[in-house]
Amino acid sequence: MRPVTDHPLLSVRNLKMHFPVREGVLLRANKFNKAVDDVSLDILPGETLGLVGESGCGKSTLGRCIARLYEPTAGTISFEGQNIESLKGSALLPFRQNIQMIFQDPMESLNARHTVGDILEEPFIVQKIGDKAFRKKRVAELLDIVGLPARSSSRYPFEFSGGQRQRVGIARSIALNPRLVICDEPVSALDVSIQSQILNLLIDLQKEFNLSYLFIAHDLAVVKHISDRLLIMYLGKVAESGNSIYRDPLHPYTQSLISAIPAPDPHREVKRQVIVGDVPSAIDPPRGCSFHPRCPHTMDICKEKLPSLVDQHNDPSHQVACHLVNEPPV
Ligand code: SF4
Repeated sequence: MRPVTDHPLLSVRNLKMHFPVREGVLLRANKFNKAVDDVSLDILPGETLGLVGESGCGKSTLGRCIARLYEPTAGTISFEGQNIESLKGSALLPFRQNIQMIFQDPMESLNARHTVGDILEEPFIVQKIGDKAFRKKRVAELLDIVGLPARSSSRYPFEFSGGQRQRVGIARSIALNPRLVICDEPVSALDVSIQSQILNLLIDLQKEFNLSYLFIAHDLAVVKHISDRLLIMYLGKVAESGNSIYRDPLHPYTQSLISAIPAPDPHREVKRQVIVGDVPSAIDPPRGCSFHPRCPHTMDICKEKLPSLVDQHNDPSHQVACHLVNEPPV
């Protein structure tokens, strides 16, 4: 899980994904759902960046923009120094090989009418790699790597348990030896007892193949297990990022998320900071800091001025978007 160089594998700058909201008889788009709004991040080779936020904060949309399943509204996505945000068709193929996704629900992401062997063979066929014998050998190797028996290749996804299906999804994601895997809530749909097996498999694969992960989750306890660094999103924007967030959370939203992680010692009393209310609509976000209707520390400035993401003096890897932290009242 350790980065081996300071040169980012992936750089995202000022990324926006605004979906038009069509209304009226003419279906005119007078409003936009600002699912991702001016997000920047880097991922180093071999690093895991945990991307955390409540449902509807834009984290999955951000992952899909990076995987180029969506065409972003604005901003840049650079992979190994090459901009990929506007590539289309065959120009995207080499990057599809290098950037893969694992989805939350393997039952939905795996074609139910294809055998597991067909599913794992497909990436090689799309990329025109190897002949039938090569592909059959690779399918057997992939099943072995993710801990499934060779006979699985002739079975259908519905014949497997949830954890086994996610192993198939993971095998498919690493089939083409990618550099970056975007894991979109890969254990959220699984029993707790299976979650740690899948997380340990992902950690082992990362060590073996020097993979980088963007690990998306709503549960900080899960992300803590696997991430080198964290990025907290709220309503389409970055609230806080850094590698010391667990020790030293500064944004009130992050503080509440961390206080909700169950303590390893059940006898140790942890003061929970409960946040009331739901995430507001990304179509009509609150003015100023979008967290202000739920924040226990809201000041007048919070209702008017959007807080900037600012490097912290004692730790430049730590950035926070909060007036209370960056411009404390005197
Ligand atoms: Fe709370 Fe204000 Fe900081 Fe937003 S900017 S998190 S409302 S203190």
